[in-house]
Amino acid sequence: MKITAIETQVCHARMRNWIFVKVLTDQPGLWGWGEATLEWHTRAVVGAIEDISQLLIGEDPRRIEHLWQMMYRQHFWHGNGIVRGTAISGIDIALWDILGKIHGVPCHELWGGRVRDYIRLYCHLGGGKMEDFYQTKPDDANRFGELAQQAVADGFTAFKSMAVPETMPLEGLQPIHYAEACVKAMREAVGDSIDIMVDCHARPSPRMGMQFAKALEPYGLYFFEEPCWPETMDDIALIQRAVKTPIASGERLVGVHAFREMLEKRAVSVIQPDITHCGGLTEVRRIAALADAYRVSVAPHNPQGPVSTAASIEFGFSAPSYIICESVHNDVPWRVDVVSEGFTVEPKGRVVYPNQRPGLGIEINEDEVKKHPFEQEVLQRTFYKDGSVGDW
Ligand SMILES: [Mg+2]
Repeated sequence: MKITAIETQVCHARMRNWIFVKVLTDQPGLWGWGEATLEWHTRAVVGAIEDISQLLIGEDPRRIEHLWQMMYRQHFWHGNGIVRGTAISGIDIALWDILGKIHGVPCHELWGGRVRDYIRLYCHLGGGKMEDFYQTKPDDANRFGELAQQAVADGFTAFKSMAVPETMPLEGLQPIHYAEACVKAMREAVGDSIDIMVDCHARPSPRMGMQFAKALEPYGLYFFEEPCWPETMDDIALIQRAVKTPIASGERLVGVHAFREMLEKRAVSVIQPDITHCGGLTEVRRIAALADAYRVSVAPHNPQGPVSTAASIEFGFSAPSYIICESVHNDVPWRVDVVSEGFTVEPKGRVVYPNQRPGLGIEINEDEVKKHPFEQEVLQRTFYKDGSVGDW
């Protein structure tokens, strides 16, 4: 059995271009789907997949670990940067889809079988509509409350917000009060039985991150995400020690080595590997095994397209420390037309029941993908009041 071609299919979905990866084999009707979506880097990832495919054409798709080692280590430069890590991930996900199809079982059956009955989903405020999630003004606490109620009305028991505004390395009380008012409004809108998360997008400096974490501590957040840059891991660890709120991070990390540092420093309670960036399903299983040794939870980053979601779900049914999965359902109205999915989502409670189909259990509608060709992603840039560059 041989790999004959590796194709990319780009599907423009407003904020992101979904990059679907199709690995074809010499067996009629046997192919696998992966995803390598990396917003604002679409052309680079498509090119990286073409470069890596030169190593894989003619190889046996069943030797996934061997091929992963080739993709990561060969041609001298290791695959630990975000572009090549994403390219490797997309191909790796497709190889697991192929292996499941060969054996006629869902991927989670390949990894020791199902460890739970269902997986809980959380949404973004607005369900993935970028204006609601990213552009709701931090001084509009009532809007945060309304969107929180909408998330619960949509069936979710957990949701994530961006209630921490963009701030300069040091600012006074106003941004802290904005964040506090927004989280208070959300908590009052939904009560204590709903889990609320706040994603800082690594906007704050370490000291501002500490101040936000302290101010929001009374509201019982499920987790507090990326309080400062991942490059300042020791400072994330200081925040994790200073508050009882669980700290989460990891969506920008590639490879088990990066997560090793995060875990050794006891920086977080929740790791958030992105299966389409961190090295695919092969590497996320190593990362989760390492996290198990520290009794740290796993909640994958998953705001991209439907193959990413299917991979995150298959992984979750096999990973004991997995607690919840990020999801978007409202980013583009035709999302459901692009994919046929094997898993089912219970509308009340938004929990996922397992896929019974082989591999990832999905098929991509290529005619639908062709209706949404590449377009430049909407640029999202931040400048502070004085004109200096900020973090989005
Ligand atoms: Mg995030």
